Amino acid sequence: MIIANWKCNGNKTMIKDWFISYLNKIKNNGIDVGTVGIAPPSIFFNEVFNQIKKNNLDILTCTQDIAGSSRKCTGAISSEMLQKIHAFSFCIVGHSERRTLYNEDNNIIQDKIFECLKSDINPILCVGETEEENKLGKTEEIIQDQLSILNNLDITDKTTIAYEPIWAIGTGKTPVPTKVNQIHKFIKDVVQSNSINQQKPKVLYGGSVTEKNAESFFRSEHVDGALIGGASLSGAIFAEIVNIKNEIKI
Ligand code: PEP
Repeated sequence: MIIANWKCNGNKTMIKDWFISYLNKIKNNGIDVGTVGIAPPSIFFNEVFNQIKKNNLDILTCTQDIAGSSRKCTGAISSEMLQKIHAFSFCIVGHSERRTLYNEDNNIIQDKIFECLKSDINPILCVGETEEENKLGKTEEIIQDQLSILNNLDITDKTTIAYEPIWAIGTGKTPVPTKVNQIHKFIKDVVQSNSINQQKPKVLYGGSVTEKNAESFFRSEHVDGALIGGASLSGAIFAEIVNIKNEIKI
């Protein structure tokens, strides 16, 4: 599973060019990777969706966020609206940028997870530690607290976790793949033992993934794919990463 998070980037020309270069590079329509998704800014849902349809691509559209249960929420997009469009299967929830810039805490994020689950939108819950927490050896403690949102929930088999160390996002720095693998196993064990239905989630790695380092992560047993920011803004590079996952097939 490979998801592009375009964040606050894109325009109509970029989207047209993105699909031309993606089509030029992608092998087999990325068919074996499982899920390939794009989370564009909501104002461009239509452009992206039309390009996917026009080119008959196996790409899902995702949202970068969702409103919580309150409808007194200027600027947000509700689960009912997303359901009406019928195009959304996945929603990124609790990205570190939302935690820091919009002060989203575990309560707010849990409310959004509920909104996703009740609407058949599969959440991609982002978790990860700061550089300081990492240096203090607190990574697992921090992640366990962030995952407590899912405690005693009946989560779906498509509920996904993205492990995104904050210090790796957009910095070019990454943890070594063995460490990522170990944290992913930890995440799977914690969620499996705490969710009502003992569901083991898929876990994606996110943080400075590029076409150069993707293979080292994808070869790790517990890494089920990637959530990609900067490198996903190029259709050619994103296609290359999808091709790498396809060739490894684990
Ligand atoms: C992200 O913000 O989700 C992300 C992974 O960004 P980048 O790939 O640019 O580090």
